[in-house]
Amino acid sequence: MTGRFAEGERVGVLTTEPLGRVLDYRAPEGGCGSGDYVVVPLGPRHVMGVVWGPGEGGFDAAKLRGVERVLDAAPMREEMRVFLARAADYTLTPLPAMLRLATRAPGLGDPPTVRRVYRASGHEPARLTGPRQRVLDALEAYGGAPVTLAELSAEAGVTGSVVKGLVKAGAILEEEAPRDLPYPPLDPGAAAVRLEGDQVAAAEALVAAVAADRYSTTLLKGVTGSGKTEVYLEAVAECLRRGRQALVLLPEIALTSEFLARVEARFGARPAEWHSGVTATERRRLWRMVSEGGAQFVAGARSALFLPFRDLGLIVVDEEHDTSYKQEEGALYNARDMAVLRASICGCPAVLASATPSLESWVNAAQGRYGRLDLGARFGAAELPEMHALDMRPEKLPANRWISEPLARSVEARIARCEQSLLFLNRRGYAPVTICRACGHQIGCDHCDARMVEHRFQKRLVCHQCGATKPMPEACPSCGVEGRMAPVGPGVERLAEEVAGRFPQARVAVLSSDLFGSARALKEQIAAIAEGGAEIIIGTQIVAKGHNFPLLTLVGVIDADLGLQGSDLRAAERTFQLVRQVAGRAGRAAGKRGVALVQTYQPEHPVIRAILGGDEEAFWRAEAEERRVAGMPPYGRLAGIILSSPDVGQVFEIGAELARADAPLRRIGAQVFGPAPAPIARVRGRHRVRLLVKAQKGAPLQAALAEWIGQVKLPANLRLAVDIDPQSF
Ligand code: ADP
Ligand code: ZN
Repeated sequence: MTGRFAEGERVGVLTTEPLGRVLDYRAPEGGCGSGDYVVVPLGPRHVMGVVWGPGEGGFDAAKLRGVERVLDAAPMREEMRVFLARAADYTLTPLPAMLRLATRAPGLGDPPTVRRVYRASGHEPARLTGPRQRVLDALEAYGGAPVTLAELSAEAGVTGSVVKGLVKAGAILEEEAPRDLPYPPLDPGAAAVRLEGDQVAAAEALVAAVAADRYSTTLLKGVTGSGKTEVYLEAVAECLRRGRQALVLLPEIALTSEFLARVEARFGARPAEWHSGVTATERRRLWRMVSEGGAQFVAGARSALFLPFRDLGLIVVDEEHDTSYKQEEGALYNARDMAVLRASICGCPAVLASATPSLESWVNAAQGRYGRLDLGARFGAAELPEMHALDMRPEKLPANRWISEPLARSVEARIARCEQSLLFLNRRGYAPVTICRACGHQIGCDHCDARMVEHRFQKRLVCHQCGATKPMPEACPSCGVEGRMAPVGPGVERLAEEVAGRFPQARVAVLSSDLFGSARALKEQIAAIAEGGAEIIIGTQIVAKGHNFPLLTLVGVIDADLGLQGSDLRAAERTFQLVRQVAGRAGRAAGKRGVALVQTYQPEHPVIRAILGGDEEAFWRAEAEERRVAGMPPYGRLAGIILSSPDVGQVFEIGAELARADAPLRRIGAQVFGPAPAPIARVRGRHRVRLLVKAQKGAPLQAALAEWIGQVKLPANLRLAVDIDPQSF
């Protein structure tokens, strides 16, 4: 996949165009090399691409068009090209879609001049209007990082002329910034903590893995607060000492600064951040710096895996079980698995950290494919919370109440002691169902097979599938009777109502992603709560993840049975992970033993018993055994094929045709199930059916799938998506 090509030679160029493959072009004047970013003509347009290798020769030499120019950017490394190609093969994603993930940095190769704008000292403009103040505040938030005037006005929500006015007034100055400003260096020895107990051996093992300079994957398991982060930061330190780059993936990196602050305390400087909330200029800078080695340590969301690292020495996937690592749109990939793939190609260690690992990783460790390190107790005096089930059957709560007496008393006790309580309910909005009391009609989305969820803050009904909204109707859309529409069941907003009624003196904060206009607003709210800005926190699953609320000593799980409904084979695993994770929020502060109260109507359920401190390893063993017997992942392999079309008849017809043409699958011993309505049978007006393919481990599944799908001619308005290792089955 490497080579230089002289002018006029035939080269293969991959573009990000949806229909594109690797296409042949003539090398430009001065030649080009594999990995070069280039501009090529495609039809009437000019598009960016990457020189993938020698041309394939299938195209008439006389009609061959030339590469227009080579962009001024470091070529894509071979390692990255191999990674993209293997990831595309594994996920059956077209290569151009994979390339798109790796070239997300805006202005690649041809960045507009980067300017640094800063505030002139002692130069207050005469008139400081509201918009002008907002610009100065926004500038403050950049803290000296390069930003363009356009970005500044967008960030402040003002027109460009406001910013220009400030420049004219001399209040802010503009200068050309060096484009490739490296990140502040990190010092691996700055402030190492003294590790204790199990931490010592675990850190030694990870440091040795980094020093070994070859691929390995290790599962780092330990309850919340046991020091997993401290331990893997030691591996990062070793990586920095060796002058190599480290990448840590975090599911919630856009929502909290806690991790960044910890890294700063440990290494004297912050890591570079990569996620959707980072400005375009900053992303451009990071993309180049990662490639040139000027960024040593990146903390990022799943897409950071596709950054062009120069010399990656370690990848950590924190909260490796987190479902948000699965990208569910476009290229369907699981960042945890892609991290392991990338590490194996780079020849560096991968560390998967979790208190409640995915069953996949647990089995991989049990079978010796992954190493496993366990951290036993919580660090220092802090203990795991006491866990109790609250049997809801004898409670006999009135229809619109969800907080049992014992839970309410515990919350009151916390309020009296100035401690915080968290009430967890994984349901956004006011009520999940709106029903007509006259005829029983439930309000559904017009475009999806989903119920509309009432959101009182927005005063609307919202579809959680497609985002469509409509006002709450006065009269039932089905029977026309007025005034009988009623909410059924609780969402966090409705729970907040009950809390306000029962604890009128308490300050209450509701944490639900839809209640905040931006990630930044949510981030500020989380920080305010951590400092004691509320006595009662009501939250959906966004509170389950790494936020540290030092005053929090009680967690109440409102409905532990919620996730156990339905037929999903992963329900037990997910419920265990989520409830354990939430419970782990309680009592991290030393000297304060936390309590988790789990409300349930089925306290004898094996999953509920495992959550409450039963033998965790026995629970995993039982889950694993069930999957093994059923031939389900991780013992067998699954692939979902989702067909969607506005035409319901057509989508079932094509689905059935595919199911009949299963010879390529039978040849590898795989079975196909369906077509059946997909887990969500209609989204945005498109009907969706799913075929599930089940194969034995080790069977050449992808090749068989490609052959199988290739046999059937798909109508233009039908979309087909392949989901390897689907999340729900
Ligand atoms: P986890 O990642 O497993 O949830 P953390 O690494 O966040 O655990 O550790 C929990 C808390 O205990 C953090 O505040 C951390 O700084 C502290 N801690 C853990 N180990 C040590 C240690 N050896 N010395 C000092 N503080 C520690
Ligand atoms: Zn909808």
